[in-house]
Amino acid sequence: MRFDTVIIGGGLAGLLCGIRLSESGQRCAIISRGQSALSFSSGSLDLFSFLPDGQPVTDIDSAIALLEQQHGAHPYALLGAKAVRRYAQQAQTLLANCKLALQGEIETPHQRVTPLGTFRRAWLSPQEVPSKTDAQQRTAVVGISGFLDFQPQLAAGALRKRGIDAHAEEIELPTLNRLRDNSSEFRSVNIARVLDAPENYSELYDALLPLSQQYGMLWLPACFGLTDNHVFTQLNKQLACPLRLLPTLPPSVPGMRMQLLLQQRFIQQGGNWMPGDEVLRADISHNHVTQIWTRKHEDIPLRARHVVLASGSFFSNGLIAGRDRVREAVFDLDVMQSDKRSDWYRDDVFDSQPWQQFGVRTDAQLRGLYQGAIVDNLYIIGSVLGGFDAVAQGCGGGVCAVTALHAAQQIIAQGGEQ
Ligand SMILES: Cc1cc2nc3c(=O)[nH]c(=O)nc-3n(C[C@H](O)[C@H](O)[C@H](O)COP(=O)(O)OP(=O)(O)OC[C@H]3O[C@@H](n4cnc5c(N)ncnc54)[C@H](O)[C@@H]3O)c2cc1C
Repeated sequence: MRFDTVIIGGGLAGLLCGIRLSESGQRCAIISRGQSALSFSSGSLDLFSFLPDGQPVTDIDSAIALLEQQHGAHPYALLGAKAVRRYAQQAQTLLANCKLALQGEIETPHQRVTPLGTFRRAWLSPQEVPSKTDAQQRTAVVGISGFLDFQPQLAAGALRKRGIDAHAEEIELPTLNRLRDNSSEFRSVNIARVLDAPENYSELYDALLPLSQQYGMLWLPACFGLTDNHVFTQLNKQLACPLRLLPTLPPSVPGMRMQLLLQQRFIQQGGNWMPGDEVLRADISHNHVTQIWTRKHEDIPLRARHVVLASGSFFSNGLIAGRDRVREAVFDLDVMQSDKRSDWYRDDVFDSQPWQQFGVRTDAQLRGLYQGAIVDNLYIIGSVLGGFDAVAQGCGGGVCAVTALHAAQQIIAQGGEQ
């Protein structure tokens, strides 16, 4: 089987790269083993919130200039501020073309409200997520009776400590009784499958209407909107006050919607989506990937002019920690890591953890290194890359988007070259 580009991994990075390549007319395949980090994420994307020393980022250009001087392995330092801005802008357009209604802008990060009632800086958030600017009203944080993955008292209490007039409320929805019988079934995604059905809309509306007449705003757990936000839009039109939705403990409805809409866009653009398959190994000859072997295609190798590795970090087994070293799972590429195991982590779990920055080494074009040499047709994108800490620096989604579009640009620029 021959393609222009084969992408290994169909999370945020792999899909954004695949969509861009398919839009440009490439014959592109994505092989993806299982669920990606999106299904467990907030659905908001971070661009760059904190410098490695913990200082908040106030200006992207000067922050990236500082990375270039002091943290040259960071993907943003490899690409430079101008490119980071350009690809972040492109990502915003691409995401909008996928019918993802997102709020936010590169220049104006917002403070999204978390389910714990705290604020966290974000680049892009689903339109329905409340931000600090929404927190001016008398607000009801509304739980659903029996749903344990969202605690309105906890969120409202934390918000009150931040000076917000927030109150915990609860609604009963008898239509959910069947799910309630089994607490392990009573999760946001299963609730969304019920509440997204048109026949259940009026029960949800009737439960919320009296609260909407007492408060300036209602904040609910994100328990509807798996495939689109029609229930959210309709409720906002019909209730007496605005409604916003907070992501819950995983699985995440907004994250799963993002995954689905990106997949749909990739397929609509002519991409070959191969879910449930797994790349087992690949052959490298003269610093060039020649063939890719997958579990389902057994003895039929996939061949492509370009290969993109978007297999994720430890969470998705793109990186695997052994006793003495961390290895990249498909190619055994060169990995940035501390030599001694005792240097992998710090005792204080709230510190920035060194292992978070482990990942594949690349050149400035994001081509991977194998035994010290550049593999000329293999690009590395997203969280399998080394040199950054997605959690402490608040840059996970941004690194995925920016590196995905940079790799796509390198591949497109090579045009018909063999
Ligand atoms: C739990 C969690 C929550 C996060 N929340 C946020 C957030 O809210 N905001 C934010 O900005 N960032 C967040 N991040 C950071 C996150 O890493 C990125 O935002 C992003 O979603 C990662 O995308 P990715 O494509 O690099 O990897 P992943 O999403 O991990 O996708 C990798 C995919 O590759 C597949 N795969 C792996 N190996 C193979 C193989 N050999 N063959 C075929 N397929 C393979 C996996 O099954 C998976 O589907 C979160 C990270 C985690 C782990």
